[in-house]
Amino acid sequence: MTRCRLCGSEAMASVVDLGATPPCESFLAADQLDLPEPAYPLHLRVCTDCWLAQIPPLITPEETFTQYAYFSSYSTSWVEHARTFVADSVQRLGLGADAFVVEVASNDGYLLKHVRDRGIRCLGVEPSVNVGAAAREAGVPTLTAFLDPATGAGVRAEHGPADLVVANNVYAHIPDVVGFTRGLRALVADDGWVSVEVQHLLTLIEENQYDTIYHEHFQYYTVASAIRALESGGLALVDVELLPTHGGSIRLWARPAEAAGEPTARVTDVLAREKAAGLQELSGYTEFSARVAKVRRDLLRFLVEAAERGETVVGYGAPGKGNTLLNHCGIRPDLLPYTVDRNPYKHGRFTPGTRIPILPPEQIAADKPDYVLVLPWNLRAELVEQLSFVHEWGGRLVFPIPELSIVEVAS
Ligand SMILES: [Zn+2]
Repeated sequence: MTRCRLCGSEAMASVVDLGATPPCESFLAADQLDLPEPAYPLHLRVCTDCWLAQIPPLITPEETFTQYAYFSSYSTSWVEHARTFVADSVQRLGLGADAFVVEVASNDGYLLKHVRDRGIRCLGVEPSVNVGAAAREAGVPTLTAFLDPATGAGVRAEHGPADLVVANNVYAHIPDVVGFTRGLRALVADDGWVSVEVQHLLTLIEENQYDTIYHEHFQYYTVASAIRALESGGLALVDVELLPTHGGSIRLWARPAEAAGEPTARVTDVLAREKAAGLQELSGYTEFSARVAKVRRDLLRFLVEAAERGETVVGYGAPGKGNTLLNHCGIRPDLLPYTVDRNPYKHGRFTPGTRIPILPPEQIAADKPDYVLVLPWNLRAELVEQLSFVHEWGGRLVFPIPELSIVEVAS
């Protein structure tokens, strides 16, 4: 039995067991198709002492991040999200020309380039070699490293303390949550701010977003469990924002505990919503597994019936979460002959486990399929617009989550 990585408790309750799947970003090249492919268990449990939901750390971040396929700049809405975040943060914190901003897991520099463009000093800390190199080529200073207390102290010694430390979409990705949080504390000035964006377990549970469970996401936070995690490194939560990104995220505004003061009413409100949803007791988790099973049955029924009617279904997108869904449902090329993606890194590769070919997006217009199964359902508004051309031949979009829905797109 695994212990809770935050509080050390052995009181871990099962939330959902998704079987065993390959790492979700391990897209296969053609010459790997005849080789064995390791699969790892994917079983979400919740600690009934501190209520941190978590999976065992079976794949180390070092294995995942050395060559990472995810370049943030390929998502239009994500780039816009970063631009707005920088503009709002500069105003909220009154960051001037003498400020210093550090982003942890800065990816290809998609966020920090907006900081740099405002004449504000910045540094990215990014573990994956190829993505960090892309950031440096784009003119964003980037250190190739994992954040731990020693890295944080090293950056502080060389560059000075940061007025703002940004950690967006990384707080779930680090198995050593305590060491990482201490690293954040080492980076930030004693009167500075830490901004953390991470998926919200409340919406994951409420909206059946089980495909966002994958090996890179070691833990899944409520605001209540995030407060405990931040405390483990000497940070205190001051404010929280609810965001629509990734199907529902929280943006936590924290400060060193001695500078934090009282949390805002928004923190109290979200904590009350989480409590009302039963997430501080087992009752909030017990129905989830049955609802996940229904998502799988509904999607498989649709694909099998479409195939038997002689209709064509192809995929759109090859996000990591798609691979949890495809593997859990057992969808292979007989039911989904290919998917497409805007990221050229993935073209000519195959989805891990299910081995579905990934082609350029133009293939959809060339083939005019009856249905397009949209795997990045979290970009629904953006994609309904972007894929409206499917309507020209009477094609329809299919979203598997929160429940199967078939959308007639207006032209
Ligand atoms: Zn715990």
